[in-house]
Amino acid sequence: MLNLVLFGPPGAGKGTQSQNLIEKYGLIHLSTGDLLRNEILQGTALGLEAKKLMDAGMLVPDEVVIGMISNKLDANKDAKGFIFDGFPRTVAQAEALDSLLKSKNSAITVMIALEVNDDELEHRLLLRGKGSGRADDANPEVIRKRIKEYNDKTAPVAGYYKAQNKFTSINGIGSIHDIFDSINAVIAVKA
Ligand code: ADP
Repeated sequence: MLNLVLFGPPGAGKGTQSQNLIEKYGLIHLSTGDLLRNEILQGTALGLEAKKLMDAGMLVPDEVVIGMISNKLDANKDAKGFIFDGFPRTVAQAEALDSLLKSKNSAITVMIALEVNDDELEHRLLLRGKGSGRADDANPEVIRKRIKEYNDKTAPVAGYYKAQNKFTSINGIGSIHDIFDSINAVIAVKA
């Protein structure tokens, strides 16, 4: 299986590059942000609870997103592989993902981090907020809170994969096409 973790702060371009990767490698895209927004749209209890945290720029509890990912892995038993986008976002989530995959005789192939500086992130997210209707993209204070959550809780996840020799990072500034080429070069070496 080819199991990729796309890593990087909010606005780094994980969703955009996921779309390219799905087409090229036939992978299943698992974005916890999309899964949560879907729960909100359906008006589930989980969605209502998650919305409050998401609108404030805070992470939702680990057990909530781990449960969602576990369900999706079970529902896609014959997949060629997965792209994890926006997950794992804490070290506890990374540990849970490893044991979920291990129970299916699989593992993460590589983490690919997209490097983008904070000024560029804020600029991209505010721009996205104008078109996307996402409340968490429209407000500079919420954007800064998300970047802070990323630096506090998510950035350490890189170390978790470094310790397994599975971490690579690439420049996330440039054309979508060039960044995709860099990602493909990493996959060619690691897969
Ligand atoms: P972005 O990466 O642009 O912030 P996402 O769509 O990945 O956007 O996530 C939106 C929000 O959903 C996050 O700010 C957070 O509140 C919540 N969320 C998504 N994935 C996770 C996760 N793995 N753990 C905790 N919260 C999450």
